[in-house]
Amino acid sequence: MSRHYLIFGPPGAGKGTQAEILRDKLNLMHLSTGDILRKHVREGTPLGQKAKPIMEQGQLIPDALVIDLMREELKALKPGQGFLLDGFPRTIEQAKALDAMLAESHLELDAALHLDTDFEKIVERLGDRRSCTVCNKTYNLKTKPPVPGGCSDGHDCQLVIRKDDEPATVRDRLKVYENQTAPLLAYYQEKGIRKDVNGDGDMEAISHRLLKAVGA
Ligand code: AMP
Repeated sequence: MSRHYLIFGPPGAGKGTQAEILRDKLNLMHLSTGDILRKHVREGTPLGQKAKPIMEQGQLIPDALVIDLMREELKALKPGQGFLLDGFPRTIEQAKALDAMLAESHLELDAALHLDTDFEKIVERLGDRRSCTVCNKTYNLKTKPPVPGGCSDGHDCQLVIRKDDEPATVRDRLKVYENQTAPLLAYYQEKGIRKDVNGDGDMEAISHRLLKAVGA
């Protein structure tokens, strides 16, 4: 039976890395709105041109645009394909739209995984994060350093600090999270599918907790 999850938490909580681990372990399609939007920005599509300045300021892309984007992504999935949404929904309006989309396809969310991380640690963690301008993979100078020529695509990664990982922007993103995304805590609590997972500690310990939370 296919499983349907979403993962949310403050920016820098390590959602992307953990989502990739869950994807591989549970054979899920990983749908990250941040990754999809960054691809549009790189390719200079009309959506990418609109999104670029908003993302660089650490603000949220308007709900209607993100909802349309995810509707297309979900439609493109093969029937029976389990998925893990990463970075979507980020507002109550997006959450309601997701519920409606899933209901149309007679699907339900099995769990909303909340990666709970200390805000203080986030500014530090994002300061150490580097992204490759070629393959878009992310690294952490302390916990996940790149290996020369060791990228799975066989190249030396070209590392930069993402504009939205700069400390002042990170603080703005945390405020955005508190104001616009944290209300999802109560939303999924009421639905009885919220699972809080401690997001502090090393990568393996966190993925172990996440797998336990979904009963895997
Ligand atoms: P992420 O990689 O998930 O941290 O996303 C990077 C940026 O993409 C965010 O700071 C937002 O500007 C934008 N973004 C990603 N997902 C969403 C979403 N669900 N709603 C609005 N904006 C989003």
